[in-house]
Amino acid sequence: MNLISTVHGYPYIGDNREWKKCLEAFWKKEITEEQFNSKMEAIRLNHLKRQQELGLDFITVGDFTLYDRMLDHATMFGIIPERYSWIGGKVEFSTYYAMARGKSDVIACEMTKWFNTNYHYIVPEYEDRPLQLTENYILEYFIEAKEKLGLITKPTIIGPYTFVQLSKGYDEKTKASFYLKLLPLYVKVLQELVDAGAEWIQIEEPSLVLSLDKDDIKLVQQIYRQLVESVPSAKIMLQTYFEGLSAYEDICDIPVAGIGLDFVHGKEQNTSSIRQYGFPKDKVLGIGVINGRDIWRANLAEKATDVHAVLSISGATKAWIQSSCSLQHVPVTTKSETKLESTLINALAFADEKIVEITSVTSYVRDDAWYGNKRVSDSMKAIETLSQHKMRKNEKVREELSLLEQNHFSRPMAFKERQSLQKEVLQLPDYPTTTIGSFPQSKIVKETRKAWRQQEISDDTYRDFLEKETARWISLQEDIGLDVLVHGEFERTDMVEYFGEKLSGFAFTEKAWVVSYGSRCVKPPVIYGDIEWTSPMTVKEVVQAQKLTSKPVKGMLTGPVTILNWSFVRDDISHEQVANQIALALRKEITALEDAGIKIIQVDEPALREGLPLRIENRDAYLAWAINAFKLATSRVKNTTQIHTHMCYCEFNDFIEPIRALDADVISIETSRSHGELIESLKQDPYDLGIGLGVYDIHSPRIPSVEEIDTILKDSIQVIPKEQFWVNPDCGLKTRNEEETIASLKNMVKATHKLRKLQ
Ligand code: GLN
Ligand code: ZN
Repeated sequence: MNLISTVHGYPYIGDNREWKKCLEAFWKKEITEEQFNSKMEAIRLNHLKRQQELGLDFITVGDFTLYDRMLDHATMFGIIPERYSWIGGKVEFSTYYAMARGKSDVIACEMTKWFNTNYHYIVPEYEDRPLQLTENYILEYFIEAKEKLGLITKPTIIGPYTFVQLSKGYDEKTKASFYLKLLPLYVKVLQELVDAGAEWIQIEEPSLVLSLDKDDIKLVQQIYRQLVESVPSAKIMLQTYFEGLSAYEDICDIPVAGIGLDFVHGKEQNTSSIRQYGFPKDKVLGIGVINGRDIWRANLAEKATDVHAVLSISGATKAWIQSSCSLQHVPVTTKSETKLESTLINALAFADEKIVEITSVTSYVRDDAWYGNKRVSDSMKAIETLSQHKMRKNEKVREELSLLEQNHFSRPMAFKERQSLQKEVLQLPDYPTTTIGSFPQSKIVKETRKAWRQQEISDDTYRDFLEKETARWISLQEDIGLDVLVHGEFERTDMVEYFGEKLSGFAFTEKAWVVSYGSRCVKPPVIYGDIEWTSPMTVKEVVQAQKLTSKPVKGMLTGPVTILNWSFVRDDISHEQVANQIALALRKEITALEDAGIKIIQVDEPALREGLPLRIENRDAYLAWAINAFKLATSRVKNTTQIHTHMCYCEFNDFIEPIRALDADVISIETSRSHGELIESLKQDPYDLGIGLGVYDIHSPRIPSVEEIDTILKDSIQVIPKEQFWVNPDCGLKTRNEEETIASLKNMVKATHKLRKLQ
């Protein structure tokens, strides 16, 4: 039996987010391009060495990026929209980062979720023009590893099918010519890799786990036949992940050298497909058995048994024992955590620990030696000890949830009636302007919080500072002329962590960062116990802000589904149960805000869509419990209390039903990067509750002009009635600076005033 251990990819951000820091220093021109390149190289090589030391048999290159891998592929193939005025040849950083982040006079490319993860990629925009291989950066990484470390690595590349599926700018007619231009470039990339000494090449095709129709299957078969025929000496490992492989039998027909399957998220389906159709004798089977999406230690006995079972039903004699997907979605190492209690830390595994799990499982299966092995029994003991933890079961919360009835999940009055009551109470102008909640987390905000965390300043000094910052921004918002104000969220590092720290059942890591988009990293909390509300979490800050102004101040909470989806969640009870526990806690917070006189409360659910299962057939069940959790949190309010919600990247067009089902009085959504499409879909399917279409992109430092916002507003009011229409930016403003924020919001308010005059 020929077994080797490998992973699809390793996190690139570094133990201490060195990657992020290097990137941001470069953008701020604190380091030169040369320094940037050499620092990035050091980070890359370090990660390769680390994986080598951990005992991984086969190490991947090309999993690294200087912003985003989809963007890397787009620029590698010369898929660069005209607006960036690229003249061909090597793509300079100025163009690359303009596509990622926008530039003074050009907007960035759209960004959207990578499958059902919390990672967001840059969407390639195909314009029907010639393509060219501008630079084979994967080859450079391969050569770098070979020359600097003497390693023959496995280069990875995002496959053409997935790449095109995730790109935009083509239709059924131009799709064929897109492929026609693209495939020769893929061939060239593969050929150059083979010529440089690469044996195996990993081609990632996560789109193959989605539902494929006959035409898709035919297309995939054609693509791979062409690649294999053109570069016969390349050994292609076709990796699929995030779900079971649909169209298994047809994909097995493809003449590639190996097929990788996810035996965590697609265990049932893949196992039954293999049972039914067998596995081709000549191919290597990639067995993705260690979960690349969670942080929990694996039961090694179970995993070794799983691998054994897969091997015996498939009859495969050559296999790669691997993670279920790239380890990019988990933090780097539990070794960086010094403060967690031992029961918890013992039950965790991040990227490095998962690699050790993979190499262990590989050797146990190879040598048939897992019975009585200490590492195996340790893993089982760690899991068992956590299950006995006193936080695991809170009888009070469980009882409260069991007593809930149907009417706890819906508002007693219909939207139209609530709307007129709220209108009377709130007295807002037409097209009310507001923001999504956060204002800039300036250097001083971050530094002061850090000083407080390190106990360099007292609680009182910190609170004082926060109050002053809120007061300053209340008066800035009044100057800008906004209608519904916010306190600014200066006390929050992160919209989930903040709540997690105040609720029981959560634990916090020090360095368990994962990348969310570009250089932005998040540090999801760990939900390991039952969740309970113990005291108000936001009331003081919001009430203080409300005292300073006669305009309404919105209370600002993160919704149950987002808290769940942006945390690492325990795996011993269902997600639905966890979501309901959070919802119950939020419901108490909302009551506390209402009791304190707050009339508008926003419950953000940017991650509601994110949790959507990839497979269409599993979506209804998810949406049913997710929507219920939101309603459990928000329904038992006064009719006059206006519930807002917010979502970014929700792809509203095909998400309108679930959004409506939330029955929120107002929703604000990200629009500016996909404006036209949204307007079109609202024409087809009008929305009948309150809605604010984001009028400018907050992910980019550029300031939108009044005219630009004007156009967006004018288009929008064609499809949304006046009584329902709100004006706001795309998302929260915490990553922007003060100057940009004020200038942009002023333009937004100016454009709104113009619109009001027109009516
Ligand atoms: N209220 C949050 C903020 O403004 C919402 C952020 C989000 O949707 N991601 O930061
Ligand atoms: Zn948002």
